[in-house]
Amino acid sequence: MHLADNITVLKGIGDKTAALFRRMGVETVEELLRFYPRDYDRIEEVSRIAGLQDNSRAVVRGTICSGVSERKAGRLSVSLSQAADETGKLQLSFFNMPYIKGMLKKGAVYYFRGKVHKRGNGFTMEQPLLLSPAEYEKQQGKLLPVYPLTNGLNQKAVRKAVLQVLEAAGEQGELLPEILPLRIREEQKLCGVWEALSKIHFPKCQEELLQAKKRLAFEEFLVFLLLIQKMKASAKAVPNAFPMLETADTGRFLEGLPFRLTKDQEQVWQDILDDMTGAYTMNRLVQGDVGSGKTVLAALALLLAAANGYQGAMMAPTEVLAVQHFQTLRGYAEKYHLPFQLVLLTGSLTAKEKRAAYEKIETGACNLIIGTHALIQEKVNYHKLALVITDEQHRFGVRQRETFSQKGMGKSEGEGGCIPHVMVMSATPIPRTLAMILYGDLHVSVIKQLPAGRQAVKNCVVGTDWRGRSWHFLEKEIKGGRQVFVICPMIEASEESDLENVEEYTQKLRAGLPADFRIEMLHGKMKPAEKNRLMDAFGAGMIDILVSTTVIEVGVNIPNATVMLIENAERFGLAQLHQLRGRVGRGAHQSYCIFINGSGSDRAKERLEVLNHSNDGFYIAEQDLKLRGPGDMFGVRQSGILNFRIADIYQDADMLMQADKVCRGITSDEAWEEKEEYLQLSSLLKRSGRNNIDFPGI
Ligand code: ADP
Ligand code: MG
Repeated sequence: MHLADNITVLKGIGDKTAALFRRMGVETVEELLRFYPRDYDRIEEVSRIAGLQDNSRAVVRGTICSGVSERKAGRLSVSLSQAADETGKLQLSFFNMPYIKGMLKKGAVYYFRGKVHKRGNGFTMEQPLLLSPAEYEKQQGKLLPVYPLTNGLNQKAVRKAVLQVLEAAGEQGELLPEILPLRIREEQKLCGVWEALSKIHFPKCQEELLQAKKRLAFEEFLVFLLLIQKMKASAKAVPNAFPMLETADTGRFLEGLPFRLTKDQEQVWQDILDDMTGAYTMNRLVQGDVGSGKTVLAALALLLAAANGYQGAMMAPTEVLAVQHFQTLRGYAEKYHLPFQLVLLTGSLTAKEKRAAYEKIETGACNLIIGTHALIQEKVNYHKLALVITDEQHRFGVRQRETFSQKGMGKSEGEGGCIPHVMVMSATPIPRTLAMILYGDLHVSVIKQLPAGRQAVKNCVVGTDWRGRSWHFLEKEIKGGRQVFVICPMIEASEESDLENVEEYTQKLRAGLPADFRIEMLHGKMKPAEKNRLMDAFGAGMIDILVSTTVIEVGVNIPNATVMLIENAERFGLAQLHQLRGRVGRGAHQSYCIFINGSGSDRAKERLEVLNHSNDGFYIAEQDLKLRGPGDMFGVRQSGILNFRIADIYQDADMLMQADKVCRGITSDEAWEEKEEYLQLSSLLKRSGRNNIDFPGI
């Protein structure tokens, strides 16, 4: 077996299953090894029926004590049975599993695992998982990996595939080359790569998991930092190939706007202007809290480029956001007669529409291109591309940023080989110390102040016992004409998790709130076109409550939405929660954010209280750093920041700093890439550069 082998070399994986894996980004054996669990499942100790708690997950060892009865509930078929232990009886209910009748024999002993609810005097376990005593014993005490899945793929299949690779590799020696020299591993107390990979998938205990995670996160940071280092070296003061002149258009646009720029915005605009009209190419990060008004700065920079006869492009991480930017800028263009010819380029255009867009871009018929990752596809050739802007940079990898800035080079006639001005915008407040490390190749402008007249969002942190009251509150707001966001951490129900999920929560809201409320759901498994349709409908006020996962986290602007209700808030990082909260408080009405702490833990409450007391993103990020402890390592991950797969810049901040030190040590020798001990490391960097491999963090 080789790393580059297609996973169809594994037993049990045919073309059909391989296609499912491909959807999850896994095609080769190496990608399977790097397909890390999103969580771990540990089977509970056995509970007595008399001691069960309402609304909790439990394992009960019981004897089937009644026959199976069946009934219909709408389109569902429900099978009911009963199990008993020495302390009492437990109702069992199964949905759409008619075959269960043939399986559950009176007198048989099983371990039942599932969520229990109090019903009348007793408890009901819904959809329990059945384990034979032998199966239960085998699983007890073990941490089982839980992988992200797609429809048709289940945990068992992924676990089996990974296990096969680990076992086969064990027989033929280590499969993966070690990229970290022994000296560094000893210094940093890190285990070998093979050990780390085996343990990240199948840890025997928490301690092993910590070791594995530490090693992999360090590696991720180090590779990332070495790449940044390379970019830094090549990005130093490039002469400005697209010098611009200040034009009347930007002044006219600013005069026309219904508001004045804040002092901070003005300063950033001055920075941008100085860069683009100056001697060197712009390479600038604009960091500003959610709602601080970065889009208008992007519009100004794009306008300057257009007025100077150049093309500008802006890339957003989601289609929803790209469409929104397109609409905003088209609105500006029409209202203020700006010299923009716009085109939108996203993945969900038809082939014909795409071809038309490519043509307009290549001939220079349009001068403002807005889109998603589609902007950096090979097929797109720009014409005099002088400015590239990446919005919500933390959602992209460094590699994508680099590809985007290289798009200005090469094929465009006349301007061949010129690096465009680069501006990246981010609403993720990254503490200064970390920003220096992570964005070391960029100049930084910060917008601290929010536009005047914004009402601060009112917050509350509550337990699940407040859910009813929260729903009442939603009802009141909706009756007043407002709209509501609800966020759940999961998309659908799953065996391994009690976390709230979008599908069931939407049903619950529909059942619990007035029937004329329009309640819809939105999540990452939907087609982009469907997501756009829902966002449009929500933006147009046709939907009252949008229940979604964090796909709406970035950038979306819906001024009439006044409530953000976040279920299982304890599962999100503070910076991420702050981003979510930024979706409300954008209009004239008072807005509210309700954080529901589903864990009941005091630590979680303490963390969430930080958000309760502050609306300042930078302060919150600093607190996130302070409040994390080693025990939190698996608790909360800020998803999607800079595309790290396993490392987390907040939780693993110390390690990031260590990796920075090591990186500087390595690169202090200019010829490091030729040195024996770094050969694997440098070859990985070269490979990822050439093939654009999406190595973690790149
Ligand atoms: P973000 O920085 O999160 O991307 P946006 O650019 O979406 O924020 O701006 C949020 C809202 O604030 C928009 O409706 C925008 O028109 C408005 N806005 C921007 N700058 C100002 C300002 N100086 N005064 C008042 N409103 C502003
Ligand atoms: Mg924005």
